[in-house]
Amino acid sequence: MPGSMRTLIVGAGPAGLYLAYLLHRQRPDDRIRIVEQNPPDSTFGFGVVFSDRALEFLRDDDPETYDLLTPAMERWADLTITHRGEPITIDGVGFAAGGRLALLQRLSRRLEAVGITPEYRHPCRTSASSRASTSWWRPTAPTRSCGAASSVGWARRPP
Ligand SMILES: Cc1cc2nc3c(=O)[nH]c(=O)nc-3n(C[C@H](O)[C@H](O)[C@H](O)COP(=O)(O)OP(=O)(O)OC[C@H]3O[C@@H](n4cnc5c(N)ncnc54)[C@H](O)[C@@H]3O)c2cc1C
Repeated sequence: MPGSMRTLIVGAGPAGLYLAYLLHRQRPDDRIRIVEQNPPDSTFGFGVVFSDRALEFLRDDDPETYDLLTPAMERWADLTITHRGEPITIDGVGFAAGGRLALLQRLSRRLEAVGITPEYRHPCRTSASSRASTSWWRPTAPTRSCGAASSVGWARRPP
């Protein structure tokens, strides 16, 4: 694709990290920044579940990331629902799950390998007046609205 773009991704959760990787893979000349309000390695104690089908998509499209993520996951084939004390097993429902922290660390390593490091402790804020509106948002030229040291911010598109 001709020309390069600057992309700001707000949030270094699983979606933000993997989006950055996919964008870089598709458009290696673009500049991609990720800002995350929390410190690195902060976690909320929960995991992320993939269906077998979702993992198949990942394996077909991005085998390197598949190989990176799946060793940190547990897999199971059946779900058991216990209704009034009676267990009912539903088979053929394959899933794999991994802890959030392990997932984020592995995705971060993947990104660092291509030269993208998320900027942690970096909240992206909007002004009170912008928040009050529900209209369009667009990235702008330099502002200070996305963390004090930021060179990229967000502002509301003029009406
Ligand atoms: C209690 C709980 C339990 C869950 N359990 C499971 C489970 O067992 N299995 C499962 O598959 N899924 C589970 N989920 C859902 C799973 O966590 C989400 O699907 C997954 O985290 C979504 O990833 P994401 O990257 O879209 O969003 P998030 O993980 O929410 O990441 C968004 C990131 O953006 C950052 N951020 C937000 N606003 C700003 C801002 N203004 N500036 C800078 N950074 C910002 C946040 O700090 C966060 O790190 C659970 C969720 C919760 C809340």
